[in-house]
Amino acid sequence: MSSDQSFLQYKSQEYGDEPTSVRHTDQYTDEYVRGFVEKWDELIDWDQRWASEGDFFIEQLRSRGVKRVLDVATGTGFHSVRLIEAGFNVVSADGSPYMLSRAFENGRSRGQVLRTVHADWRWLNRDVYGRFDAVICLGNSFTHLFSEHDRRKTLAEFYSALVHDGILILDQRNYDAILDNGFSSKHKYYYCGEKVSAEPEHVDEGLARFQYQFDDGSAYHLNMFPLRTNYTRRLMREVGFQSIQTYGDFQETYHEDDPDFFVHVASKKYDPAIAEDPPEVDEVPVTDETPPAEKVPVANQLNGVPEVKS
Ligand code: SAM
Repeated sequence: MSSDQSFLQYKSQEYGDEPTSVRHTDQYTDEYVRGFVEKWDELIDWDQRWASEGDFFIEQLRSRGVKRVLDVATGTGFHSVRLIEAGFNVVSADGSPYMLSRAFENGRSRGQVLRTVHADWRWLNRDVYGRFDAVICLGNSFTHLFSEHDRRKTLAEFYSALVHDGILILDQRNYDAILDNGFSSKHKYYYCGEKVSAEPEHVDEGLARFQYQFDDGSAYHLNMFPLRTNYTRRLMREVGFQSIQTYGDFQETYHEDDPDFFVHVASKKYDPAIAEDPPEVDEVPVTDETPPAEKVPVANQLNGVPEVKS
């Protein structure tokens, strides 16, 4: 069979006999099978997502004078299309060919031609040329990296793709709440699509395995690394980002006490004040937009930071 035919096949997700033992970065290419990708827009529901996140990202980018954006986790193209329509110059990268082809179709159906690049983050600058004012990595994508080595290399690639004062916008689920409170609490985590549920099926310090159930009875899984919030911030700081602002939940339709998502905005611009007196990660102030401190355990989450493996 030619590789073209295999690309068009509907394969099932394969996790073997012990799905919770599958903990490696390359797995994402097998997880985003064609059937799941075709369901993805049901999961994220463009209209509701649009309404729920509002102009947050557009304002973040415009207020910093950003013109060129690299969307490294394009998925089906939601943010790329939004940003193109808002007047930004966007390059859309992703490691999944299924996602990219869907993104291209989605762009075309909205009258846009996406400039897509098939690229894995770990060697991003091999395939993506030029420097960007902003790199965006959204939709809880960074969680797909399973080793600290891959996370550091990826952040270094993002850093390198930026101009000298560029910004990285990266979001993540509030895994601290899931890890610390457990999922036996019956807390359910919903994406924007009302007819789709996304629930943790297994969680430990090294794995968050989620099940995505659709109203036609189909179900898919993702095995992800449960990033603690301050751990992500620490890695960004250590790779060289100078300031990191973390925003609390804004984009989910479902809320309980804790935000479901955090958005980190990390700036590369050299800050002499930080060079003289570097703050500890847990001293980095959270922004005004973040919900009240007692609801956002950002400032004291260094406990439980995974061991640095050599
Ligand atoms: N940003 C989109 C959204 O919010 O709908 C997609 C999010 S989806 C959870 C994660 C995306 O990251 C997928 O499209 C996947 O292919 C991509 N991805 C995961 N790991 C990657 C890697 N190592 N290199 C490139 N892309 C990767």
